[in-house]
Amino acid sequence: MPDNITLLKSPPWLQPSGAMLVLDASCRRVCQVSANLTELTGLEWPGKTEDSVTTLLGNRLARHVKDEMRDALRLPGPLAFSCLVQGRSQRFQLNALRSGKHVLVELEPLNTSDKRRLLGTVNESLVQLADAPHQDALLDSLVNAIRQLTGHDRVVVCHFDSDWHGLMVAQATSGKLPALLGQRFPASDFPLSLRRSYERTPVRAITDAQAPPVTLLPRTSDNSVDVTVSLLRAPAPERQTYLARMGVRGSLSLAMQGDDAGLWGLVICHSATPHQVPPPIRDAVRALVQMATQRLLLLRARQEARYLERVQDSLVLPASQEEPYSPAQLLQQQAATWLELFRSTGVALCINGKVISTGQVPASAVIEQLTARLETAHAHARPWCSRNLRSDPVTRTLPMGHHCGVMAIPLAMNPSQRSWLVFFRPEQVETLYWAMQPTEASGQFMMSTDLAGSAAWREEVVGKSEAWQHVERLAAVDLGEDLTLAIFAYEINNLNAHLQAERQALAKANQRLEQLAHFDPLTQVWNRYRIEQAIDAQLVAAQRYGTPFCLLLFDVDNFKTINDTYGHALGDDVLVALAALVEGSLRGCDHLGRWGGEEFIVLATHSDLEAAVGLAERLRTLIASLEVIGLEQSITVSIGLADWNAGDSCKTLMGRADAAMYRAKHSGRNRVELAQETGLEPGDKAP
Ligand code: GH3
Ligand code: MG
Ligand code: MG
Repeated sequence: MPDNITLLKSPPWLQPSGAMLVLDASCRRVCQVSANLTELTGLEWPGKTEDSVTTLLGNRLARHVKDEMRDALRLPGPLAFSCLVQGRSQRFQLNALRSGKHVLVELEPLNTSDKRRLLGTVNESLVQLADAPHQDALLDSLVNAIRQLTGHDRVVVCHFDSDWHGLMVAQATSGKLPALLGQRFPASDFPLSLRRSYERTPVRAITDAQAPPVTLLPRTSDNSVDVTVSLLRAPAPERQTYLARMGVRGSLSLAMQGDDAGLWGLVICHSATPHQVPPPIRDAVRALVQMATQRLLLLRARQEARYLERVQDSLVLPASQEEPYSPAQLLQQQAATWLELFRSTGVALCINGKVISTGQVPASAVIEQLTARLETAHAHARPWCSRNLRSDPVTRTLPMGHHCGVMAIPLAMNPSQRSWLVFFRPEQVETLYWAMQPTEASGQFMMSTDLAGSAAWREEVVGKSEAWQHVERLAAVDLGEDLTLAIFAYEINNLNAHLQAERQALAKANQRLEQLAHFDPLTQVWNRYRIEQAIDAQLVAAQRYGTPFCLLLFDVDNFKTINDTYGHALGDDVLVALAALVEGSLRGCDHLGRWGGEEFIVLATHSDLEAAVGLAERLRTLIASLEVIGLEQSITVSIGLADWNAGDSCKTLMGRADAAMYRAKHSGRNRVELAQETGLEPGDKAP
């Protein structure tokens, strides 16, 4: 194998502040030890012997490590032991953890520190953290407590934004290192590999970044031991350069693990001179950071819950409201609250392609175009957000005016064409203070050579709105769902009202149809069709029960002359007055119908011929007394009367009545004639 290939994998480098033993997976054999083992601990490794762990650590310690590591990834807690170093007893802390097919044993000197004092300080800090009312107070307490415990020159909290740039949000400093509060470190300083490593090992400690590292002995050709999970690993050369540029030699950094989207941030402690943090203090700091992170997430969750509640409440409408609000009314009522909650200057509701809006919004046509594009570009049910409309592919070519940010919430009332609630934000010029300067050649960020605080590079961010926060997007989903329901309720109510009106119109039309089907439009008495129906029904009853009934057919005498003399309109009046007069004089069980022209029929039910003759005479006399305005003569009728005979049909019965009526005409008019084949002799009672 050529030399240059073996060089590709560098040997594992370790910090000289601690020593390391590399054991095999079963913790029986020592494979390698750090070059500084004897110098730091006084322990001597005799070389390759079978049970070398026992030889090196002694029976009890070796057995303990072997037993505890049998199925574990790391020791449940550190062990302490003493060694003779140059004739003096020195305490050490032992930790063990698995890395690939090896177990790494870390040995670090333990200085006799006052444990009770440490506990007191930690407890006091924990109380302060638990009482902190908001994020700023919490982080201030945290950095001050850590600086008090570790004695670093500068302790900062670096919070990551959604692009993984780090903003220094809290700081405690001795003044020996420049202040970093408010400065931003570019995402390139926190590459994914680095962030991942914090997830695995949340603490990184560097005692002296400039100290020459030590390696493992004996050297192997494959360098297969991976020490990256160990606290003792030496900083990579790039890291060394980075820290040197910042004037930092001692460093301790701890992960603040967020609940969902990875790292929330880092606690970073720096010291201008080499700085060793004793293991118990390091553990105490780690506990404080964990506690503070939990508290931070809790405060944030509470704040978000309050916010979400306010958004949900913004659509609870008064219970007294009976009719649901229209979308336009809803917008008018809620716009001010929504604009405040979503920190916007304008809001538009685009329903079925129609736009209503409040506040500062682009032209309606532009909003229509925007939602039409989103219809295809954004099929999700989630809100669509942009804070940079001028460079977003969806909006780049739309004239959005001074609006730079949009959150568009789809409302799924109609799945084939969604409606949208759209919030608009104006430009917000933001000044960022970068701790780096971009190099001219590559546009890459580089560490500013002079980091005296004031040397931070200022960047003005233009063309962007305030960012849409995660919780705002969540709230938008809630609001979208509630609004969809409210608009649904309105539309259903509308539809019901519409249906109700249609139903009423239909009932009216039916009534009208029935009127047309059964009544004569001029005289408003039954028409021929209806009176025929009644005669048929009467025929059936007579056939079955033998109940007698009669038909009176009468025709106005010389009506043509009346029309000719007084005009057709007065002729109509005569017919109307005559029908009303006759109908008004009939019993409830008798019926009048217009047979056609000036001919009418009276169906006299439950009447024998004698009663019917009486009725006919009464009607004839009554009609003769009729007075119609404008008519200077009396009206007479000729009446043909037929009674029911067994076996009669409507046709035979009518035929006999008609024949009788014609006889009355021919006999001089204004008289009653009985049909043939009746019980009475013709002319018996008739005049
Ligand atoms: P008679 O005594 O023989 O019955 O003589 P008449 O003139 O009444 O007989 P005729 O059947 O010749 O005339 C009936 C007239 O009634 C003819 C027609 O114009 C008129 N008439 C039919 N229906 C209406 C109507 O609805 N309104 C008016 N004004 N006239 C009608
Ligand atoms: Mg007539
Ligand atoms: Mg006639």
